[in-house]
Amino acid sequence: MPTNKGGEMGDGVCPACGDREIQRYQNCPEVFECCACDAVFGTCNLSESYAIVFPSWVKQEPAPEETFYFDFECLGSEGVTRRHGWADRKSRCIVQIG
Ligand SMILES: [Zn+2]
Repeated sequence: MPTNKGGEMGDGVCPACGDREIQRYQNCPEVFECCACDAVFGTCNLSESYAIVFPSWVKQEPAPEETFYFDFECLGSEGVTRRHGWADRKSRCIVQIG
């Protein structure tokens, strides 16, 4: 029985597909990865998020199945910045914002 409390990001549901099978993303304690669709989401600092999804646009638009959803709340010098959209699996560059 999953015990999910509260409505914060990382509470156990993927924001892209609603799957509950998520795991911690590498060594970021508050970033999670969906086992079903590979979405990456959570809270981290801006430079960490740039390592996961590069802050540049993809050169050639990939097929939809080659992309993954990302949604970060990033803590930086300007407060909280939200970065969300779709990125290319191979290059980890941005395909679409929002
Ligand atoms: Zn998912």
